[in-house]
Amino acid sequence: RKLVGKLSTGCVEFDEMMGGGIDTQSITEMYGEFGSGKTQVAHQLAVNVQLPQEQGGLNGSVIIIDTENTFRPERIEQMVAGLSERFGMEYDYEEFLKNIRVARAFNSNHQILLVDSALELANELKDAEKPVKLIIVDSLTAHFRAEYIGRGTLADRQQKLNKHLHGLQRFGDLNNACVVVTNQVMSKPDAFFGDPTKPIGGHIVGHTATFRLYLRKSKGDKRIVRLVDSPNLPDGEAIISVTTPGLRD
Ligand code: ATP
Ligand code: MG
Repeated sequence: RKLVGKLSTGCVEFDEMMGGGIDTQSITEMYGEFGSGKTQVAHQLAVNVQLPQEQGGLNGSVIIIDTENTFRPERIEQMVAGLSERFGMEYDYEEFLKNIRVARAFNSNHQILLVDSALELANELKDAEKPVKLIIVDSLTAHFRAEYIGRGTLADRQQKLNKHLHGLQRFGDLNNACVVVTNQVMSKPDAFFGDPTKPIGGHIVGHTATFRLYLRKSKGDKRIVRLVDSPNLPDGEAIISVTTPGLRD
């Protein structure tokens, strides 16, 4: 087992809550309502992972499995500009974009298969200048939720999700990489059954993900990130701001 790496979120409180940053070799699940900032945090991590360790990164590249077509290169450009502001040096946006490999997943089976492709690619890049140090699945559950409707198919869905998560855990272990997945919770008017604050996928996602972060909107650009049921860290909350140049304290 390799030494666990830490990826900085760029936010002091958030990093401290996580014991220094997002762990490698673990799955970190971000769940919350639409607009709570899950995709924004994902974009920021895709930028930060490329930084050298002294700037909180892992000197790595990233693979994004994009299931809802929400990856935005323009957002990366804004966040890279935000880095210059933070560190007082120039960064090349094109270089950052090159180290973000985005794969669209068209359905849940395709999504699962893309983890195998990601494993192959990461293996090819093992000795590259920037090996793959982060894999993001945004959204982990949207396809599953759309395809498996009704109680009869629930066990089937959980089994597939479980398999998917094990593949992702394996990716994190083999590459000493961070694994970050997003999961939407239904906003109250849409929650016809069940607890609206419980993530889709229920307890299987809950048990596999080592770190579970519940994001919710606060005033203006502020978001509250709550660490829930961590095996080795105290529960806590961090306040972050989602701004045009990126995540801020
Ligand atoms: P969903 O469940 O629908 O995928 P999400 O949790 O992924 O939602 P995000 O897309 O991360 O939500 O958050 C969207 C919010 O991020 C916007 O409402 C806005 O507040 C903020 N945001 C997005 N782009 C920018 C930007 N360029 N500058 C500042 N804030 C932005
Ligand atoms: Mg999103």
